[in-house]
Amino acid sequence: MGKDKNPKLNPFGKSTLPCPICEIETVHIYIKPRLFVERDKDVDYYPRSVRWLKEGLGNLHPRFYYIRYCPKCFFAAGDEIFKNPVESSTISLEKFRKLYISSCLKDPKILKIMQFLAKGIDMKSIDFYQCFRLHLLAILQLQLCEPIATRDATDLGRYCLRLAWLYRDVNSDSNLRKQFSQRINNLLKSLKTVWPELPINEKKSLIMARDYYQVTLSNSYKVDTEVSEINLLYLIARINLKLGNIKEGHEVIALAKEKVRSFQAKIKEYMSLQAQKERAANSKVEQHQKQVNLDKTDEEIAEMAQAGRKLKTLADEMQTNFEDCKDKWQQRQFAICKKIIKSNSNASPEQLREILLNKDIDEAVVEKFCPVTPKKEKKGLFGFLNR
Ligand SMILES: [Zn+2]
Repeated sequence: MGKDKNPKLNPFGKSTLPCPICEIETVHIYIKPRLFVERDKDVDYYPRSVRWLKEGLGNLHPRFYYIRYCPKCFFAAGDEIFKNPVESSTISLEKFRKLYISSCLKDPKILKIMQFLAKGIDMKSIDFYQCFRLHLLAILQLQLCEPIATRDATDLGRYCLRLAWLYRDVNSDSNLRKQFSQRINNLLKSLKTVWPELPINEKKSLIMARDYYQVTLSNSYKVDTEVSEINLLYLIARINLKLGNIKEGHEVIALAKEKVRSFQAKIKEYMSLQAQKERAANSKVEQHQKQVNLDKTDEEIAEMAQAGRKLKTLADEMQTNFEDCKDKWQQRQFAICKKIIKSNSNASPEQLREILLNKDIDEAVVEKFCPVTPKKEKKGLFGFLNR
């Protein structure tokens, strides 16, 4: 009785995992990954829609199940991170555990915030509000772990990025907004006094995510290969584009592109050495002449070549993303310019320039609408963007 007539339709999977802090075992619930595909990704990877591969599941939100949580010590982390929260950092699990206990569990003020955020969380009936609080919990805990927040901050960046997605969800989905926005606002209001760094909206969460990725890029020993560095650069560029920071995004893309180029040159060099070595081995020259200095195995070179192909695809994709974002940004800037000029019809060109620049209109755009210098040679409007 009460049993699922068709157990195949149960969309939930369960996994029992010990908490990395207190070692208590908890059953974690997730949506089986084969049941859905996230689609139509925004420039910052936000999936705008989900395609369900079985009928009748459309009311589920895969994002709600991302953060795993221990009800005993409140430790919260992303599904792939919970098992080993120090995998992308250079501190040991033992040290992380000690830091968590001293900075979170033994600090009465923080413990109170964690209890407040974790109140009533039940993964069996998770909703947007619970999911939102779990993200805040995971962010707060890592912010208080100094080596993570100042060095190996990839996971912290990821949680902030996903928090930005949740803000986007609640702002764009009228059902979610109706049900939860008031509660979210009240929560933020009461938390802000005790947690001043709390990212209170989508923009602040995106900025925080980008800054944590930047910290990782500059300080983490875990970013130790060209591939990991380039991937991180592109992630930072994506968030800049989403924020509308076109110039910064472009600079990071140009830097990453340069690194992709030099990585590919390196692969080419290795391949040529590999070919030389093969030729020498097959030829009849004296043994001492057969030496070709190659410090990588065939397997390592094949791996590099595969990584190089992936990076090339990523670089092309980023170029397209950049062009799209640049077009939208230009259109926005032009529209704002026209509006300002229309409502300030009595202003002199100098005054107009001043007003436009004060409204954060790009100098190149201002120059197009109110040129200060007479046109001489034909110069691209967005010189910095056309590299
Ligand atoms: Zn625990």
